[in-house]
Amino acid sequence: MSLVGKNAVVTGGASGIGLATSQRLARDGAGVAIWDVNEADAQRAAAELVTKGVRAIACRVDVSQRVQINAGLERVHAELGPVQILINNAGITDFTPFLEVTEEGWDRVMSVNLKSMLLCTQAVVPDMLAAGWGRVINISSSSAQAGSARMTAYAASKGGVIAFTKSLALELAATGVTVNNVPPGFVDTPMLRSSDRPGGINVAGVAATSPMKRPGRPEDIAAACAFLASEDAGYITGHTLSVNGGRYIA
Ligand code: NAP
Repeated sequence: MSLVGKNAVVTGGASGIGLATSQRLARDGAGVAIWDVNEADAQRAAAELVTKGVRAIACRVDVSQRVQINAGLERVHAELGPVQILINNAGITDFTPFLEVTEEGWDRVMSVNLKSMLLCTQAVVPDMLAAGWGRVINISSSSAQAGSARMTAYAASKGGVIAFTKSLALELAATGVTVNNVPPGFVDTPMLRSSDRPGGINVAGVAATSPMKRPGRPEDIAAACAFLASEDAGYITGHTLSVNGGRYIA
C-alpha cells in the first residue's frame, strides 16, 4: 500500500502502538511527524526513521494543549509540508474504582483521550480539505465496546472517540476526507505492561482467556491504520475496525 508523497502525523508515536504505526506508515512511503510528550523517545524514533531514508521529525506536543499542537503543525509544514494522514493515537489509561474517581482525574483522561481529537483534528483537517484528500484514524478501545470495570473515565473517553469518529465522518463525507477508528484489544505495549498490577490488568490472564491466546502486537494495530490510510480504503468512513483477536465481536 503506497503512501509515497503523503505526510502523516502520529500522536503518541514514541511508544507502543504509535511507534509501530509511525514505522509502518514510513515503510509504506509516508513522511512522518511524531508528536509526543516523551521528547527523548520521540527524537530517537524519528532519528531511526531518518537513518532509513524516511522524511521524519519529532515534536514535543501535549495533545491536550492547542498552543503546542499549533507549534507542532508549524514545524511539520516547514519541514515536511501539508498533512494528509492523522493518527490520533496518544492516550492515557486509568484504573480508579468508580467512587474514587475525582473530577481532576476524569478531566485529565477526557482532555488527553477525547479533547485531543477535537484539537488535533481541527488543526490538521484544513490541509486535507485543501487537498481534497485526507485520512483521520482515531485509536479508541475495546474497553468502550465491551465495558471495563474500574475504567469508567477511560471507557467513556474512548466511547466518545467512537461517536466523534462517526459524526465527523458524516460531516466530511463529501470532501474526500475519511474518518475511521480502530479499537484495539489488549496489546503488548508499555501501557499494557504498566497496567499489570493489582487493580489493573493481569496480562497473563488476559492472554490465557483471549480467543487467540495471546495479546495483540503493536504491528497488528499499525497494519489496520496503514490500510485505512491507503487509497484502497477510500470508500470506508465512519467505520470501527476492531483489532482484538476476537475479544469483542460486534
Ligand atoms: P503507550 O505505550 O503508553 O504509548 C503512548 C504514548 O503517548 C507514550 O509515548 C506517551 O508518553 C504518549 N502520551 C501520553 N500522553 C500524551 C499527551 N498528552 N500528548 C502526547 N503524547 C502523550 O500506549 P499504547 O498502549 O501504545 O496506547 C496507544 C493508544 O492505544 C492509546 O490511545 C490507548 O488508549 C490505546 N489502546 C491501547 C491498548 C493496549 O492494550 N495497549 C488497548 C486499547 C487501546 P508517556 O509514556 O511519556 O506518557
